[in-house]
Amino acid sequence: MTYELIEKSKKYLWLPFTQMKDYDEQPFIVESGEGIKVKDIHGKEYYDGFSSVWLNVHGHRKKELDEAIKQQLDKIAHSTLLGMTNVPATELAEKLVGISPENLTRVFYSDSGAEAMEIALKMAFQYWQNIGKPRKQKFVSMRNGYHGDTIGAVSVGSIELFHHVYGPLMFDSFKAPIPYVYRSKSSDPATCRDECLRELEQLLAEHHNDIAALSIESMVQGAAGMIVMPEGFLSGVRRLCTQYDVLMIVDEVATGFGRTGKMFACEHEGVQPDLMAAGKGITGGYLPIAVTFATEQIYEAFYDDYTKLKTFFHGHSYTGNQLGCAVALENLRLFESENIVHTVAEKSSELNQLLSGLNELPCVGDIRQLGFMCGIELVQSKQTKQPFPANGRIGYHVSLKMRELGMLTRPLGDVIVFMPPLVSTKEDLQAMIAIMKQAIMEVTNVAIR
Ligand SMILES: *Cc1c(COP(=O)(O)O)cnc(C)c1O
Repeated sequence: MTYELIEKSKKYLWLPFTQMKDYDEQPFIVESGEGIKVKDIHGKEYYDGFSSVWLNVHGHRKKELDEAIKQQLDKIAHSTLLGMTNVPATELAEKLVGISPENLTRVFYSDSGAEAMEIALKMAFQYWQNIGKPRKQKFVSMRNGYHGDTIGAVSVGSIELFHHVYGPLMFDSFKAPIPYVYRSKSSDPATCRDECLRELEQLLAEHHNDIAALSIESMVQGAAGMIVMPEGFLSGVRRLCTQYDVLMIVDEVATGFGRTGKMFACEHEGVQPDLMAAGKGITGGYLPIAVTFATEQIYEAFYDDYTKLKTFFHGHSYTGNQLGCAVALENLRLFESENIVHTVAEKSSELNQLLSGLNELPCVGDIRQLGFMCGIELVQSKQTKQPFPANGRIGYHVSLKMRELGMLTRPLGDVIVFMPPLVSTKEDLQAMIAIMKQAIMEVTNVAIR
């Protein structure tokens, strides 16, 4: 039975972000999950060390979440949001507006983070058309940014490895620098931050009449390698966007819903975006719901007689799906009753301590962390910060070793990702970091020799 399943998986599937040749050599099928662990079809258990790619909050098979879906199923599974609404989508919208930055008063649903960003980009573009400033059509995006994999989201992304091949399909966007302190000339956070802000200001000063919006991940560039922005950067970007009349689109898809120790990461800097995308943790890691938040000012620019043609012509078949919204509602109730955000903030300093134990390894170059969002950058030489040769795929081999040792994650190049479910206890964190440490030691010892 298990053998047949594995053969079928190799024969019929094509997996996301996966070289299928790698999969064929290392097939892996999840059978079930419980708490912060998942079990494969052979019965072996693994810590979910990356929250099933940055989603999971309360662990798997959380009773209350399971129950919320079952109860909704007894009413209806899905009806459309085109021109009408449903009960949980409406209740959830109120809740979401209640927990988001104060100026964000409207929610537009979709099914994935990429769509939520796509929607923000289209809203920003049409906003200027609708208010009679049609020249503002261009976007500014951050170097090494990642906003999802649809063509619009890719156009404002800039991860060379993922995006290069689609160059001819993308619309142009201005690229602004992001402070990557570890690999900056000065290694001083404030200097690095100020240089980047200065460059952004030059760009905006020169081109703001043509610019609709700027897109930026909130506080941490996730896919770029968990690059945490220095204090004052995100708020500096907000200040410049306001000064040059450019909408600020903040991507909270990875960072939202408690991940960094705030409900939304932009709260670390008191930033209020004009548009904000969120997804991932919104359903506790259960179902595909995403959301784009907008200000009342943007909403009003679309509100008019139909014949004025200001309508936002965008939607998806499953927008506002009841099962997803019902579980998202219960997820938010649990955030309150279990005080998740506060607890993550508290546990973050313990996590910081535990992670610092990795510093003694000769190949750990940089440890980056904001809340429960962590990246460990492996280097060949701590002194020179010389990376490992790309062909060695050190990150990939470390994560395979971790899997062997009972923990799942996915690396970003040579950055080992650690994004445990938010309910992980200190003991859980300890056990997971011990696995990480052993895997890094075993693999890098061989690589150095
Ligand atoms: C994951 C992610 C996305 C894309 O979300 P999907 O649901 O995978 O489409 C967008 N932005 C950021 C910052 C992300 O981490």
